[in-house]
Amino acid sequence: MNLFQNAKFFTTVNHLKDLPNTPAEIAFVGRSNAGKSSAINTLCNHVRLAYVSKTPGRTQHINFFELTNGNFMVDLPGYGYAQVPEAVRAHWVKLLGDYLQTRKQLIGLVLIMDLRHPLKALDVQMLNFFALTGRPVHILLSKSDKLSKNEQIKAFAAVKKALKPFMERQQITVQLFSSLKKQGIEEVNQVVSQWFAD
Ligand code: GDP
Repeated sequence: MNLFQNAKFFTTVNHLKDLPNTPAEIAFVGRSNAGKSSAINTLCNHVRLAYVSKTPGRTQHINFFELTNGNFMVDLPGYGYAQVPEAVRAHWVKLLGDYLQTRKQLIGLVLIMDLRHPLKALDVQMLNFFALTGRPVHILLSKSDKLSKNEQIKAFAAVKKALKPFMERQQITVQLFSSLKKQGIEEVNQVVSQWFAD
């Protein structure tokens, strides 16, 4: 079964206190412009389910989508957008941290990082926030089509090496992904389906 195919928009909230009561959910996070909305649209085979931003970082909504198994996918606000005031950015990082550390029904995190710009400080912070939960993280190295096959292999190996210390303390899997080339869709579906099955 494809978990994402025909996922349906469920609700948008702006505050953690308004989060809906779901049976179980997975969340997508990433720096703004990493390709998170595109990845969600590609996985769900839907052109505009998640909004691909022209001005990244403007939306601070938490969007919920219902998956085909009756569980939920959460699209969290992108972080790190330079043109948002520092105080606002810090506020959102704190909210993300609170959500990642306290959300009981969150069974796994999908972290999207541009293959060409991986593991920035805030990405590491998200991994740190989530480490204490003991739950798995799956990393999509996005926009892989922007590199040649050879460069992809090198960049992928470099990220895996950099992730080694993190993998010693938390369950992390990682793959290449391209929304443009529709590369890696089945692998995401398999990993996330396994989370729901465990
Ligand atoms: P978000 O801010 O993380 O939600 O990122 P978006 O999905 O809005 O994408 C940011 C920009 O990267 C947009 O211009 C997208 O068209 C582009 N983009 C996203 N995914 C890909 C991809 O797989 N390949 C290429 N070449 N561009 C992509």
